[in-house]
Amino acid sequence: MSNSEKYMKLEDEYTLQTYARFPIVIESGDGMYVTDADGKKYLDFASGIAVYALGYGNREFGDALKGQIDLVIHTSNLYYNEPASLAAKAFCEVSGMERVFFTNSGTEAIEGAVKSALKYAFSKNGSDDHEIIAFDHSFHGRSLGALSVTGNAHYREGYTPWEGKVRFAEYNDLKSVETLVNEKTCAVIMETVQGEGGIHPAEPEFIKGVRKLCDDKGLLLILDEIQCGMGRCGSMFAFEDYGIRPDIMTSAKALGCGIPVGAFAMTQKVADSSLTVGDHGSTYGGNPLACAAVCEVLRQYKEKDIVSHVREMTPVLEAALDEIRKNHSDRIKERRGKGFMQALEFNAPVAPVIGKAQEEGLLVISAGKNVLRLLPPLVIQKEDIEKAKIILDKVISAT
Ligand SMILES: *Cc1c(COP(=O)(O)O)cnc(C)c1O
Repeated sequence: MSNSEKYMKLEDEYTLQTYARFPIVIESGDGMYVTDADGKKYLDFASGIAVYALGYGNREFGDALKGQIDLVIHTSNLYYNEPASLAAKAFCEVSGMERVFFTNSGTEAIEGAVKSALKYAFSKNGSDDHEIIAFDHSFHGRSLGALSVTGNAHYREGYTPWEGKVRFAEYNDLKSVETLVNEKTCAVIMETVQGEGGIHPAEPEFIKGVRKLCDDKGLLLILDEIQCGMGRCGSMFAFEDYGIRPDIMTSAKALGCGIPVGAFAMTQKVADSSLTVGDHGSTYGGNPLACAAVCEVLRQYKEKDIVSHVREMTPVLEAALDEIRKNHSDRIKERRGKGFMQALEFNAPVAPVIGKAQEEGLLVISAGKNVLRLLPPLVIQKEDIEKAKIILDKVISAT
């Protein structure tokens, strides 16, 4: 039995079988590559689902975490701690938001964002019977609150906790949003670029229209930037590119580059009439280790000008994917995406392509059955793109 088989067997035996894992045991990583328990190397175009933005084995990141571990890992939120205060300032500066709350995950960031919006609406008219507009094919997380605004039936089936409180509109269809607004509506929640739903960027007219609709009707706009934010789409947060600002936003994934941390943040105007002392909390949320990660991640983004790098490399990545599409136009319907959040939509399931790519040493993932999803680390270089292109081209031909 290989090392990998040994660990896979243990998981099969002891963990709740909720994950359809690929048969790879990742042991270590370096730059754009991960190595499995038997020494096989893979070029990683998944980044642990848009998490490892700064690449694997990042020495300074590791040192910053080790330094914090030696000081203190956890304090609870009964006390102040240095990394949390520095991370809060840094996050507000890069996001343009004015108040932030750190969580342990994306789904918790959504919970907090939705609670903030409901509390804001409650403080305006004393009613706790408010509705939220979300979107078909959206994904916002797996906790019950986040599931309530997730529009993908596959994730919701079996539990629809706020049945009746959330209405689902059609993404990129402003009319469908307008028709759902009623006197109970208090907020619209959407991904700036839909991720799990198949990589669908918001059309500029649509998202600007939603912003205006919210302004006109006094609704809060919540933008979920958990996957598309943190530089991935060529601006620090994807909404910047559309020239709009949300009232509340969420972040996670690349925010901690591997340390579990998320955030929801808002304008001062929302904060003034929303969650206050005792309304929300978390034992671990924003603990010193997580916030040391956030500080170091944001420091490196600035130092390396990650956003400019994504902008420079995007045409290279898009050209490579367009070439693949052209070479296989009988099978690939479309390339779409924004920055380093790209998709190739096939006319059949992509699972065989993903499996074959793994055999050839390339990690890619899907976003729905027929959509191949590419989320490389943001520190990617031209030669990595070239390499991935050659492998993809080959495995598509072979499947
Ligand atoms: C991943 C994701 C979430 C959930 O984040 P978790 O950390 O897995 O809880 C929410 N929204 C979007 C857009 C995501 O991509």
